[in-house]
Amino acid sequence: MVEQIATFLGAMTFNTARALLTIGALFIPIWYLERRQGSDISRYRRRHFAHDVAYALFYDSGAFRVLGASLVFSVVQNQLSFMRVGLLEGLPIVLVGALYIVINDFVSYWLHRAEHRFPFLWQFHSVHHSPEELNFLTAHRVHPFSKIMWGLIGVFLLIVLGVPPAMWLPITLVQTFLATVQHAELDWRFGRLYPILVSPVFHRLHHSRDRRDFDRNYSQLFCVWDHLFGTANPSRTPPTAVGVEGLPPEPTLVGQFWGPFRRIARRGIAPGAERPTSSPTPRQGGGKKRSPAARS
Ligand SMILES: [Zn+2]
Ligand SMILES: [Zn+2]
Repeated sequence: MVEQIATFLGAMTFNTARALLTIGALFIPIWYLERRQGSDISRYRRRHFAHDVAYALFYDSGAFRVLGASLVFSVVQNQLSFMRVGLLEGLPIVLVGALYIVINDFVSYWLHRAEHRFPFLWQFHSVHHSPEELNFLTAHRVHPFSKIMWGLIGVFLLIVLGVPPAMWLPITLVQTFLATVQHAELDWRFGRLYPILVSPVFHRLHHSRDRRDFDRNYSQLFCVWDHLFGTANPSRTPPTAVGVEGLPPEPTLVGQFWGPFRRIARRGIAPGAERPTSSPTPRQGGGKKRSPAARS
């Protein structure tokens, strides 16, 4: 027993140190690029960033897995073993990786859209949307309920498609890196790839406080899904402000955990419960100019 606790603490210390090193390695170039661009870097001294660091450490240190996530995933994995049909088995490994990324991105688009469409799911997803400033770690600001839901869909896809475990790490690294860049305050549009790849500006519009921008730009990696299904925001201008009108972030991490449950218990999951709706008239290209004051 003592040996198990020591092993667990050792693994957790190692994971925490690795997570901190990764945060530091990402922070330096992103801070430099944001500063050079004139972004408000004082936000790294504020509460939102401290909370996002806490989310990143909670998920990457192993604490989340120890607190039940591992158990949930392994039970589901065992239950779904009969679905090991291996749809992609036998194909070259690079093709398997490419197909998995496209299929996973397609499923992610619809799951993300469902999080905005269904009030119950929105209450949990709103934890990611509520902060009034973004940083490269905001991708980690996800409620544990949403994290488990996304994890289960990911496990299901890996099982059904038969993606070899050797591919899991590189795929996760690519996805994590892109999610990191997308939440940085960089006015990057990726040039001619803007309609194809999700850039920081494209995703920032998804976080816009302006109701006309809501329910748009759901894509995670390829914007083609938004263009295909009519949810792409025609604007290419970063929003003046981010967050959700009338739904400020809970001031504490504990409050952010219980907030969705409390709101569901209090108001139920009636359509529109604390959820802004988009205007029937979408904003056309051009949009507003970014005001420096609004960035602080
Ligand atoms: Zn969203
Ligand atoms: Zn986001």
